[in-house]
Amino acid sequence: MLVNNMKFLLNRQFRCCIQTTSVRLLSTAVGGYSPQFKDNFKGNYDVIIAGGGMVGCSLACAMAKNSLLSNLRVLLLEASPESYYQPKPEYSNRVVALNQNTKSLMTSLNVWKHVENVRLQPVRYMQVWDASSDVMISFSSADMMDDDVAYIVENDLMLHAINTELLAVNSNINIVYNAKIQSYQLPKEAYPSTQSIVKMDNGDTYTCQLLIGADGANSAVRKAMGVQYLSWSYDQMGVVATLDLAEECTNTTAWQRWLPTGPIALLPLDSKRSSLVWCTWQDNAKQLLKLPEDQFVDALNDALWKQYPRSSSVETCTSWLSAGLKQAGMADGAARQLPPSVRGVAPASRAAFPLAFGHSTRYIAPGVALIGDAAHRVHPLAGQGVNLGFGDVKDLTELLAEAVYSGLDVAHPNWMQKYESVRQRHNVPTQVMIEVLHRLYTVDFLPVVLARSLGLQIANALQPIKKLIMAQAAT
Ligand SMILES: Cc1cc2nc3c(=O)[nH]c(=O)nc-3n(C[C@H](O)[C@H](O)[C@H](O)COP(=O)(O)OP(=O)(O)OC[C@H]3O[C@@H](n4cnc5c(N)ncnc54)[C@H](O)[C@@H]3O)c2cc1C
Repeated sequence: MLVNNMKFLLNRQFRCCIQTTSVRLLSTAVGGYSPQFKDNFKGNYDVIIAGGGMVGCSLACAMAKNSLLSNLRVLLLEASPESYYQPKPEYSNRVVALNQNTKSLMTSLNVWKHVENVRLQPVRYMQVWDASSDVMISFSSADMMDDDVAYIVENDLMLHAINTELLAVNSNINIVYNAKIQSYQLPKEAYPSTQSIVKMDNGDTYTCQLLIGADGANSAVRKAMGVQYLSWSYDQMGVVATLDLAEECTNTTAWQRWLPTGPIALLPLDSKRSSLVWCTWQDNAKQLLKLPEDQFVDALNDALWKQYPRSSSVETCTSWLSAGLKQAGMADGAARQLPPSVRGVAPASRAAFPLAFGHSTRYIAPGVALIGDAAHRVHPLAGQGVNLGFGDVKDLTELLAEAVYSGLDVAHPNWMQKYESVRQRHNVPTQVMIEVLHRLYTVDFLPVVLARSLGLQIANALQPIKKLIMAQAAT
């Protein structure tokens, strides 16, 4: 322990020297790039985080709060202007379902209390059902876990909560808003020469030892790394809106119905409002945005309630299985709840976002690491996207702190390789699972409909399987 502490202190001292030296070295080195570069050089940092979305800001906050990392010089660059959050009676149309792991991370960072002080809605029951058959699966917090299934939080409130805590910490983190990064010059050689040059569109330039790409799905950091990126568009859009329910109720249930065009989900906001995520083909999504309000509400209620054509063979097989499960004393899926009807849609709350899959085969390069949507992008059907990003933040912070504690440099390949391996081991199976679900439910080929219906019925009857699904979704 003592040896480790000494190593850590020595490393800090050493890093301070390196930092000053590298700024000096840079002033000599810059002459080689361009005369402008020298004039607009704004500083050398240990870490630059490119992108101040929910994931980038939470990394800055986690680093500021970690006693082993709080002495690092960190710069967060965000293209958008600084936003000033004002609680309003109406809800934002952009919400996320956050899992228990995210809640633990945000609680440990003191961020969760800022969300709770404004508003969030717990999800205590979740029902997912298929429009092509009678089967469904449900998850109840009372049956399966000691805590809620998930929490619905508005994106802007989440960002505000993270930033409130980030600004409250007296740390070495600098934040620059309205800071659009134009290009990156990444280290050409392997460790230990890991200095990256970050060029802003106003001509300013920064350098750093470790560059973190938290710049979203179209990440320019990822492009500069030159890594392979596996991606495809779903040709679908997620239509979002804030909905008024026909009747007031406890409203702690998340509903998801699989339509032949994609899933439609209602996420609870309060006793009379829910948030919509309706994934459908691009043309259909654009039409839904144009519909007059009453026609949109009719289309929505149709999507939740309409009986779709069903195959008699699937019906027969699922009712046999249902009878068998009932005889065995297991859940046969008959005890279902009915989804709410929608009465109206909040003015100007409809919007649509393109949906795509993305997987960066590498999350790291010398002196560079990717987090959040920059590294992985998923279909919103399982509400996992930003939860995966927050998982990256947690693991990256812990591994970097361990590395610094044991005397390693911030861009040392040992911890970075561990980061990539730990995160890909979690993120890739989750991405595959979501992809399989998406493909299973967007076909109406009879054997597939039969297989998925029986599979869902069995999963619903077997508590250990449901617990396994919940455990994967919660991490
Ligand atoms: C319809 C829909 C529903 C969803 N629902 C859920 C859900 O229920 N649960 C869930 O977990 N996830 C959900 N997601 C996914 C979630 O929204 C994303 O995973 C999350 O927003 C990604 O956050 P991020 O910080 O990684 O990226 P982003 O939010 O894209 O942030 C990137 C930031 O980088 C900045 N940036 C980019 N380029 C530059 C540059 N050149 N210079 C400076 N700054 C730059 C941008 O301005 C931005 O602020 C949903 C997504 C959609 C589309």
